[in-house]
Amino acid sequence: MADAGAPFRIKGDTGDWEVVVGLEVHAQITATASKLFSGAATAFGAEPNTQVSLVDAAMPGMLPVPNRECIRQAVRTGMALDAKINAWSRFDRKNYFYADLPQGYQISQLYHPLVGEGEVEVLLDDKDESTAKRIGIERIHVEQDAGKLMHDQHPTMSYVDLNRCGVALMEIVSRPDMRSPAEAGAYLRKLRAILRYVGSCDGNMEEGSMRADVNVSVRKPGAEFGTRTETKNVNSVRFVMAVIEHEARRQVELIEEGGTVVQETRLYDPDRDETRSLRSKEDAHDYRYFPDPDLLPLELDQAFLDECRSSLPELPDAKRKRYEALGITPYNASVLTAEVETAQYFDNLLDGLQRRDLASEAANWVVSELFGMLNRSGRKIEESPISVRQAVSLLGLVANGTISKTLAKQVSEIMLDEQSGHFGEDPEAIVDAKGLKQTSDTGAIDAEIDRILAANADKVADYKGGKQQLFGFFVGQTMKAMAGKANPQVVNERLRAKLG
Ligand code: ADP
Ligand code: MG
Repeated sequence: MADAGAPFRIKGDTGDWEVVVGLEVHAQITATASKLFSGAATAFGAEPNTQVSLVDAAMPGMLPVPNRECIRQAVRTGMALDAKINAWSRFDRKNYFYADLPQGYQISQLYHPLVGEGEVEVLLDDKDESTAKRIGIERIHVEQDAGKLMHDQHPTMSYVDLNRCGVALMEIVSRPDMRSPAEAGAYLRKLRAILRYVGSCDGNMEEGSMRADVNVSVRKPGAEFGTRTETKNVNSVRFVMAVIEHEARRQVELIEEGGTVVQETRLYDPDRDETRSLRSKEDAHDYRYFPDPDLLPLELDQAFLDECRSSLPELPDAKRKRYEALGITPYNASVLTAEVETAQYFDNLLDGLQRRDLASEAANWVVSELFGMLNRSGRKIEESPISVRQAVSLLGLVANGTISKTLAKQVSEIMLDEQSGHFGEDPEAIVDAKGLKQTSDTGAIDAEIDRILAANADKVADYKGGKQQLFGFFVGQTMKAMAGKANPQVVNERLRAKLG
């Protein structure tokens, strides 16, 4: 990342401009298998129109029944975002006509959302707490998704798939607190991590379980907010960042040419990497919102709220701080907590090791060794051929001096190599089978050291003459001669003794 401390500016003919960004994130509540007001299934990729109940198809006389688990997940999400939970909230109808909306209205929450103000802390640079910034959350409300129109299946016809009709969404509305594409990217990644820790949304942006409406305006630094445009349904972090960059430049050019930004809804076209105007922006009154007469207000009792809170897991920030308190570097702590699966693996590893003093070594091993190897074989951590139990053994073998770190690397490579004949075997078995035990036998080590010092008399003289950095060379040569199996501590001691 570029200098996280320098403010993001767009250079115009009239000087520097600042970008102002607010995001409305639609996150599908994937924790439940059914819809917000009906029992229909929500599995991704099902045949069109196979997951549509009479309620979703808006048959006359059908009545919505709130899905308790959806409400529970939205409340837990709000709590994880430090937000105010409104024990009393209400559903409203947002009226509009579109072919993917059989009801003719979306059930949403305008006036009394389930969740009020909250915030998310983002780090612009993972390694540096001083780059922390708080992004305000304005509200989270619960609403129905619409269906999907397909225009490209037939030259003269359009089709509609109602499978998504009525799927439960959380709309997470941020304050206009972001000031660069990088901040928006960091916010989205953090939000996604929190949702995945909570388990309310799987964060799968490719499958559309998380998508963002990107509100962008520009201003001279410190001036009043400018008029914003809203680019709808952007479905990757990279695209959100691209939209902000483009939209800010377009607005600056427009204003500097004497034009004015109109408040409108735009579309992002990833193929052409540009945004296009879709329609002028509607206001709330255009939708004739009114309380949905089919639904009673939602009233949450204390026991429900207590259960929501007590069922929350340890969240990324708390976990990162706990790891740092164990002596793990801020960078490793942030890598280990970024994805919930990694954090689970690492927590299990810590439990298995039962030793605080090994936490930092264990973190190094996961971040530098295991991740590297998993990446090379295209595996995710939950598919790691080295189980947590085996990782505990491996790190234990290093800690008790049976093998060196270098040998540990060899052992893990063997465990991860499907061609090695020892794929997925326990580390102890591999150490035995391959004779990889580290030796502290001073007889053997001394013999190699003597040979190496004799063969490098010139370097020994240089070392004695003050070239201290040659010590590493002698260590390296000895380790090499011992095929990596010498105990490095013993090698160091013996070399120091012999070199005086
Ligand atoms: P609507 O529901 O009509 O889209 P909201 O008032 O709920 O309008 O705001 C939507 C989003 O727009 C919020 O995320 C907010 O932070 C953002 N926003 C508001 N004003 C600006 C602005 N001047 N520039 C950029 N974003 C803005
Ligand atoms: Mg909006």
